[in-house]
Amino acid sequence: MIDLTSKAALITGSGRGIGREIARKLAQAGADVVISDIDLGTAKAAADEIASEFGHKTVALAADVSNAVDVAKMFEGALDAFSKVDILVNNAGITRDGLIMRMKEEDWELVLNINLKSAFLCCREAARPMMKARCGKIINIASVVGLMGNAGQANYSASKAGMIGLTKTLAREFASRSINVNAIAPGFIRTAMTDKLTDAEKEKLSSQIPMAKLGEPGDVAAAALFLASGLSDYITGQVITVDGGLVM
Ligand code: NAP
Repeated sequence: MIDLTSKAALITGSGRGIGREIARKLAQAGADVVISDIDLGTAKAAADEIASEFGHKTVALAADVSNAVDVAKMFEGALDAFSKVDILVNNAGITRDGLIMRMKEEDWELVLNINLKSAFLCCREAARPMMKARCGKIINIASVVGLMGNAGQANYSASKAGMIGLTKTLAREFASRSINVNAIAPGFIRTAMTDKLTDAEKEKLSSQIPMAKLGEPGDVAAAALFLASGLSDYITGQVITVDGGLVM
């Protein structure tokens, strides 16, 4: 049984989807959670639901994680609420797909900023309190396409591959302070992000997955719970794929 009582976790983009499920699982294990999202209403709804389900304190904050000022304020809010951040989950992410010949520069920049620059900004803010505490867990939500590429997702797969490089580098920078930095690379998970796919596309995808089905947000959250816990204390700089066997 994983017990995260007295731990404080900050999860970005956790108003819905995978982030929300990660926040739920960490709260279920006893952690105090900060639900951060670009939309305050979405964050509040998730925070209220999790607080009423598990009966402990949650905080909702609005932040565009690609913006350094917002990220600094988000950490201020989290530290005001819980005096520490033991667990940081860099989860916020978007897609703006298209073949490279037609990809607009603004779509490249938007995806790189929201998916990758955000993780840099959040890790930079988390570094000081975690270094001081001489412990911490950073979990970066990457993607299998950061490992294998995907036609039509040059911006997205570059951002996720970048996140994997960031994970390995920070794992080396922080290891001596007992701060673990790991990534999760989900395959195709049933959320608003994949709802955009047609049934035919989903069927085609499933046929490439050895387990022959899309994953659920809870599958990713289970891996995040493990990486947030003491069970993973000797694991750092790793990428755990949660993909039904797609990449092996
Ligand atoms: P989702 O349902 O679209 O949720 C993403 C959340 O991030 C939303 O609440 C969104 O808010 C928020 N967000 C977007 N831009 C933001 C910003 N600038 N600042 C703060 N929050 C922002 O997506 P998901 O499927 O749960 O994906 C979560 C993470 O898993 C992403 O990093 C994604 O790349 C990764 N992932 C997903 C899959 C999959 O198959 N679903 C596979 C591999 C990796 P709004 O809704 O208000 O925009």
